[in-house]
Amino acid sequence: MKNRPDQRIAILGAGPGGLAAAEALREKGYRHIVVYERAGRVGGQVLTGSYTTPDGRSIVYDLGSVQPTSSRKLDALFARYGLHFGRGILQDQPKAIYAYSYIHASEFANFLKYYFGAPLIKLPAIAADVAKLSWYLWRYRRLARPGFHGFRHWDETTVNVREWVDARGFRFIGERLLAMLVSALTLNNKTREKEVPVYLLFKALYATLVFPMRYIDGTYRPVREGMQELWKRVAANFEVVLNADITGIRRTAESVEIVTPAGSRHFDALILSCGFDKIAARIDATEEERVLFTGVGYRPGYRGAFIASGGPVDGVHWYPDSFTSGDAPPHMAFAVPEAQVAQGHTLYSCMFAACPTGAGAVATLQASAERMFREQYGARITEWLRMQYWPDFGATFDPALVRGGVFDRIDALQGKSRTYHTGQLLSLTGNALGVEFSYDLVERFF
Ligand SMILES: Cc1cc2nc3c(=O)[nH]c(=O)nc-3n(C[C@H](O)[C@H](O)[C@H](O)COP(=O)(O)OP(=O)(O)OC[C@H]3O[C@@H](n4cnc5c(N)ncnc54)[C@H](O)[C@@H]3O)c2cc1C
Repeated sequence: MKNRPDQRIAILGAGPGGLAAAEALREKGYRHIVVYERAGRVGGQVLTGSYTTPDGRSIVYDLGSVQPTSSRKLDALFARYGLHFGRGILQDQPKAIYAYSYIHASEFANFLKYYFGAPLIKLPAIAADVAKLSWYLWRYRRLARPGFHGFRHWDETTVNVREWVDARGFRFIGERLLAMLVSALTLNNKTREKEVPVYLLFKALYATLVFPMRYIDGTYRPVREGMQELWKRVAANFEVVLNADITGIRRTAESVEIVTPAGSRHFDALILSCGFDKIAARIDATEEERVLFTGVGYRPGYRGAFIASGGPVDGVHWYPDSFTSGDAPPHMAFAVPEAQVAQGHTLYSCMFAACPTGAGAVATLQASAERMFREQYGARITEWLRMQYWPDFGATFDPALVRGGVFDRIDALQGKSRTYHTGQLLSLTGNALGVEFSYDLVERFF
């Protein structure tokens, strides 16, 4: 398969994983690429909305992935496609995330107190914890790869992160690791804490170290044009079949046949970026594939956008309640003032954790946000613009499958039946690692 730019490649899924694979192939000279996308748009979990203000300005806001953690590959794409950071209210100065704010003196003081305010007597415990953590970072260094293959410590790393931190006796930084990382990995939902295995904690630490987040210093910089714009611009290079209704995929020694109501087409290779579970019913899956891709779990959530008067107009507001009372859903995890739309009226985007589902879910979430804004700021939400449900957020494998070496076994599958796997399931949820994984896949196999 390697260095055969004449090959015809089909990619399933026009999210960051699939489009990054397409772009990586294009960079290597491959020209016969078709991307099949089930939805009517590209971007996957990256979705940008727009709002026209009464005075005719257009404001973009993100309803899916918003904060691009950086990676060399992702940064190169932003540069190549002419995108910028910062927008709206946040345009000219990097505004700080509530918990780590560098803007307001009192919050800065809290930040210092939180991180460095430990009594001197605790310094030995801090030093011991840092040394221990550094050792584990070295021991698990293979987890730093965007993929997970070749890792031999699954048993230890699939235990619950809280149990692991307690058992390893992290006396000082343990609570901070849990507070900062577990909350991020569970969408600030404490009830899900037990679902977080240690390997995800390490992936998150490595993601921070290897691909420093743009907001590591507490700043928040969304893409000015909207995050989806990147993937729209990338997709313009390819034949993308939107609303693709794939009714069958048949793989033989000679080719991969993709069947849709419009007919069937043959390819030399197939890259699956939509998650195997999303196509399992339509593909001639092998027993090994079926076994490996069972036990995929998601942590669904909602994002929304609304206009309010009297609310905060700076910073990114994380709601501490969502860190401490995740067992009382629903609640808004954060709200971002995106832009002023009229005198005294601000457009916010927000995220909900611990979401109810089914009929009435949206109304429940909106009522909760309205109550929160009223109680916290005396503010009034005057209009809801949009609510977006994300069923595929936070994809992970069942820890038992991980203990059984699912990532190594999927790596061994790469290329079998002319099929390759990429996407969030393999790379850890996030744009940067997904993009890096897809580039790595293309580098290794094409
Ligand atoms: C609310 C939210 C906030 C997030 N915030 C961030 C953030 O701030 N920073 C960050 O780095 N990441 C964030 N993420 C995660 C990030 O968006 C995902 O990691 C990324 O989108 C994964 O890319 P992917 O291509 O693997 O999958 P997806 O984006 O899910 O794309 C998969 C695509 O496959 C398509 N598909 C499914 N089934 C089929 C089929 N049978 N045939 C054809 N196509 C199919 C889907 O329609 C979809 O377009 C967030 C995600 C959500 C939902």
